[in-house]
Amino acid sequence: MIQDNYRAVEARVAAACRRAGRMREDVTLIAVSKTKPVEMVRELQEIGVVDFGENHAQELVTKTEAIPEKLNWHFIGHLQRNKVKYVVGRACLIHSVSSLRLAEEIRKESEKKGLVTPVLIEVNIADESTKSGISAEEAIQLVRQVAELPGLSIRGLMAIAPPVEDPEENRGYFRQMRELKETIAGLHLPGVSMEELSMGMTGDFEVAIEEGATMVRVGTAIFGARQMMQRRKRKTTQSF
Ligand SMILES: *Cc1c(COP(=O)(O)O)cnc(C)c1O
Repeated sequence: MIQDNYRAVEARVAAACRRAGRMREDVTLIAVSKTKPVEMVRELQEIGVVDFGENHAQELVTKTEAIPEKLNWHFIGHLQRNKVKYVVGRACLIHSVSSLRLAEEIRKESEKKGLVTPVLIEVNIADESTKSGISAEEAIQLVRQVAELPGLSIRGLMAIAPPVEDPEENRGYFRQMRELKETIAGLHLPGVSMEELSMGMTGDFEVAIEEGATMVRVGTAIFGARQMMQRRKRKTTQSF
């Protein structure tokens, strides 16, 4: 069933790429497996899926230990500095860097492990006070600062759009993200790549692709609904 769900989402990704005149290989579909059991990840592994998304450090550790094969684990959640040590070296990309303090911690841990950690700068595009994150202007400043740090390499930007009934409501936000990515790319900062734009979830990934997403993070449409989690401490109106 999960394999069928994945194939259905894959078909929608491919169709959105065609509509937008984009190549299918320019968009990575990340299966967001957070809160879901390892068996479900294995089901998708069977059909060749390698990109998975997690948003808790402990769960990332548990899953990477249970699955010895090398997969691309994307860290997409709010990352506390004391959890950085669990994520550096396990995640192929940390999507959610929104402060210099966090970037410093990733630098420290990466240098300790002799790694360069690929990261995205997370922008709070809708400026909702319930979410962590920084504004577009702050993002430009943060990119400049993080670019100076060894041990990290900036690959692009990430955004979480607000939950909406009609995905068209988020089109403007996605467009703003693409414009911000182009603005930053135009600064030609040494060591900064603006190749990746991680945006779009179950409710709006097709619109995000039409507006330039290079990574979409899809959970519910593949794995089914998640239980609301008690262990989340941050206030949020969303079920992730
Ligand atoms: C949970 C989560 C997703 C996936 O959300 P769905 O609506 O279930 O597709 C995507 N991005 C982030 C940052 C998440 O935390």
